[in-house]
Amino acid sequence: MEIEKVNHPYLTAIKRTDISVPTRYLLKHDLLKGRILDYGCGFGFDTDELKRQGYDITGYDYYYRPDYPEGKFDTIICNYVLNVLEPYAQAEVMMNVTNLLHPKGTAFFSVRRDLQEEGFRLHAIYKQYTYQCNVRLPFPSLVCNSSYELYQYNHFNKLPRKDGEKCPFCRLSRRVEVICETATCVAFYDGYPVSPGHTLIIPKRHVASYFDLTNHEREAMNVMLQYVKQKIDERFHPDGYNIGINVNEAAGQSVFHVHMHLIPRYKGDVRNPKGGIRGVIPDKQKY
Ligand SMILES: [Zn+2]
Ligand SMILES: [Zn+2]
Repeated sequence: MEIEKVNHPYLTAIKRTDISVPTRYLLKHDLLKGRILDYGCGFGFDTDELKRQGYDITGYDYYYRPDYPEGKFDTIICNYVLNVLEPYAQAEVMMNVTNLLHPKGTAFFSVRRDLQEEGFRLHAIYKQYTYQCNVRLPFPSLVCNSSYELYQYNHFNKLPRKDGEKCPFCRLSRRVEVICETATCVAFYDGYPVSPGHTLIIPKRHVASYFDLTNHEREAMNVMLQYVKQKIDERFHPDGYNIGINVNEAAGQSVFHVHMHLIPRYKGDVRNPKGGIRGVIPDKQKY
């Protein structure tokens, strides 16, 4: 019988006897600051060695060290994780890392550049599949050679802005709280919330209409919607949600950069909520 092609990324963890190359780079350049998280630490050699050297570091690995980290971190390292995951799992890791990062923090993603082939491979000893692929991120690259690439990530609203940039989302306020990011999208709490937890999800690319996004961007926004909903549930415990996108001035769009509103709703927040989104035409809300 053929074995089902299910990824077992923990089988790619390496029993190390020395600090990994990307972590050594970060150490040498004094980039490991404050409270540190080693996300996807595997067996945890780097974590334990840095702790021994006096760093304030926590290791997390969904398989080997499954206690999910609490609070925010000043530095997050994520070594050789994304390149052993399939696309949805990569997005999940990116959203977790960006969500765990302090607003002024820096994350470092390293990915392999020495892969001979991509896709599923049957593990010789465990007879289960692992997966690997080349990953390229739209972030500044600190190291890129034939063995690995190391990217530096800061929250979308902390990046340098283009001169004269007027779009309020392309030059997102430094003060807004970013919830999470992927390579293409970012979610943040609305600066003028209509209810506690009101969130906007936007593509990073400047596009006015939702209907002009690529399928990939629309998909990424939907994956993010699902993630952000969980975060809002944990923090605000709403009783319901409205999800909405305004397209064109006639429909009430005022910022011409696509944004999806996720509006948490609470029992009693309006006298009669019946009809919900139908309320965009107030006379027709009740039917
Ligand atoms: Zn824009
Ligand atoms: Zn709007």
